[in-house]
Amino acid sequence: MIDFSLSEEQKQLQDLSKEFTNNEIKPVAAEYDRKSEFAHEVIKKAWELGLMNVQIPEKFGGMGLSVLDDCIIGEELSVGCSGISTSMMSNMLAQGPLIVAANDAQNKKFLGQMVEECAFCAYAVTEPDAGSDVAGIKSTAQKVGNDYVLNGQKMWITNAAQAKWFFVLAYTDQNAGYKGMTGFVVPADLPGITIGKHEHKLGQRSSDTRGVTFDDVKLSAENRLGNEGDGWKIAMSAFDHSRPGVAAGAVGLARRAMEESIMYASERKTFGVPIAKHQAVSFMIADMAMNVDAARHLVYKSAWKTDKGERNTIEAAFAKAFAADTAMKVATDAVQVFGGYGYSAEYPVEKLMRDAKIFQIYEGTSQIQRVIIARELFRRQ
Ligand SMILES: Cc1cc2nc3c(=O)[nH]c(=O)nc-3n(C[C@H](O)[C@H](O)[C@H](O)COP(=O)(O)OP(=O)(O)OC[C@H]3O[C@@H](n4cnc5c(N)ncnc54)[C@H](O)[C@@H]3O)c2cc1C
Repeated sequence: MIDFSLSEEQKQLQDLSKEFTNNEIKPVAAEYDRKSEFAHEVIKKAWELGLMNVQIPEKFGGMGLSVLDDCIIGEELSVGCSGISTSMMSNMLAQGPLIVAANDAQNKKFLGQMVEECAFCAYAVTEPDAGSDVAGIKSTAQKVGNDYVLNGQKMWITNAAQAKWFFVLAYTDQNAGYKGMTGFVVPADLPGITIGKHEHKLGQRSSDTRGVTFDDVKLSAENRLGNEGDGWKIAMSAFDHSRPGVAAGAVGLARRAMEESIMYASERKTFGVPIAKHQAVSFMIADMAMNVDAARHLVYKSAWKTDKGERNTIEAAFAKAFAADTAMKVATDAVQVFGGYGYSAEYPVEKLMRDAKIFQIYEGTSQIQRVIIARELFRRQ
């Protein structure tokens, strides 16, 4: 049986997120972007309303909502500003490895903190010489007795300066390939951690992106997630939970670009008629609607599958690649619909186009999603 309707609770969640976006995010998004400033106040209000960290299990004080619920929220917030929603949703990316692999004591301590206060965490995997090629990381956690000494340099880490703790992937055995990688939860206030400068980015400027250096950081076995050698599996399975949410953010951005295009095309006149009456323009907008809807269906299916406890690797890759490519195309076409005004920061579509690009890069590029899809297809032969 297929049922495309949302539950009453999901509709309420959607309405709450929509209202929050209209009242709290849309009015300030351009200003935070202009100043490249982290939107602390906005995000604290969202946390108070229960729009953050929603997948933390009830057992650890969280709401225990589903991946699909998270996607519904993520789409709405991203309609307002995907820079602000990325700051919020990145918590989920870092929490994913704990939800997948941490023991109760670790979850109580590190996830519990996110329930008690509006706090942030960060997923620290990428390095200067290794992004797509995760196995190329150089960070090491050398075992000394029962403890570990962490060394390495991470790059492009969202929420780095805000984080109370990091999920860090490092080699405990460099001779064992990806099976030599181990995941750690690392409190941000440990000696030996240096947070880098704020990166000035093309888009999503209000999100905080920096490098993080670990220099002889002492960790105990209590900081290790799962067993030695489990790191790769943990880091990758977290993506199955987080990618639908990232893709939902791309859908939200694309929907906003489409909505702005519809409003503008209805008002702007050329040759005596609204530009919506020119088929070249209205067809561009028809394509936007078709692709936004298709992207949302892929998002919902990938979320639904993981919520059922099934492996969603290929569906999450479909959703992430298609929604990211859709966001870029729709935002670019929206600038076209606006003509010269679309190129000006006075109108929202210029920011949407800048913000859209990163969806094709972070959490696995659009090319890497296709690598995953192809691998999954051929693995099934
Ligand atoms: C704003 C921002 C926020 C980020 N947040 C985080 C974060 O919170 N945590 C984190 O760990 N990382 C984060 N990242 C890093 C991000 O995930 C990486 O930038 C991304 O995975 C790509 O890696 P790279 O930049 O090293 O590019 P590369 O891996 O060097 O790729 C360069 C180009 O080559 C292509 N390419 C590479 N390999 C292949 C292949 N096998 N087949 C086809 N094409 C290929 C890529 O698609 C890309 O187009 C963030 C990055 C940015 C810019």
